[in-house]
Amino acid sequence: MSTPFIWHNGQLKPWAEANVHVSTHALHYGSSVFEGERVYATHRGPAYFRLEDHTRRLFESAKVYEIEIGYTEAQINTACIELIRANQMKSAYVRPIVFRGAGGLGVLPKGEAPVDVAIMALDWGAYLGDAAEHGANVCVSSWNRPAPNTIPSWAKAGGNYLNSQLIGLEARRGGYDEGIALGHNGLLSEGAGENLFLVKRGKLLTPPSSAGILAGITRDTVLTLAADLGLSVEERDLPREALYTADEIFMTGTAAEVTPVRSVDRKNVGDGTPGPITKALRQAFFGLFDGRTEDRWNWLNVVGDR
Ligand code: PMP
Repeated sequence: MSTPFIWHNGQLKPWAEANVHVSTHALHYGSSVFEGERVYATHRGPAYFRLEDHTRRLFESAKVYEIEIGYTEAQINTACIELIRANQMKSAYVRPIVFRGAGGLGVLPKGEAPVDVAIMALDWGAYLGDAAEHGANVCVSSWNRPAPNTIPSWAKAGGNYLNSQLIGLEARRGGYDEGIALGHNGLLSEGAGENLFLVKRGKLLTPPSSAGILAGITRDTVLTLAADLGLSVEERDLPREALYTADEIFMTGTAAEVTPVRSVDRKNVGDGTPGPITKALRQAFFGLFDGRTEDRWNWLNVVGDR
């Protein structure tokens, strides 16, 4: 999994030297915020997908928790690009992380508690394996998402992923590829690490961004592409049974990309194969990287261009 370099606090360091101390605040109290980004091998060369949007979300997540990043968004964008060049990668999954560092314990960080910033680039394939193409078998989790007045879901913080781990572990134990959680109000929210889309009678439906979900960048991409294809789209509250009566379901995320769902709680979605709208949106999405979909939104950030 290792790559030659990791960007750590302003320097490119060999993989084995990018380490932290066991007193690191984030290890004890979950005080990290991070991003997951992809570099695609595109028709224009290696390119980040929506890099600026990811970096902006990283800064917003840090703001929620009053973590001072100490670099500008532009500096982080440049560092991301430089890392891919230094590692000579054609495609990658990139993980910028900002966390309260080593400097004594205590839930409230001490005045001088340092903040570490690191960016790692990994060689990662499809997150949900074969399911990416043929469809994932998912379950509805017995774990709910945290209520909005407990842990904010728009901030992509390390601590949020304890909930995701419970959802994912339960799903795996039951033989499923992924778990979907209900929100505090019993309505649909999202997968352990993906946003959720349903198709019902030709209409694309997704829980609103206030449903205790991460406001996913792939979710926004799919909403934009769907509007562009002239599909009818609605962001609205959906009950659990919407999963059992949907014609199509798919999940979105930087890691998961656009993954069809084949069954929920062992009940087939449609005929158990990816439906036409899922296929059209997958084609539009992956078309961004081979040029079949024109990048009218300037979402690609070509690594060689800077
Ligand atoms: N929800 C959760 C909980 C996630 O971890 C992710 C992955 N970052 C997503 C949704 C999808 O977000 P994005 O499309 O920005 O990767």
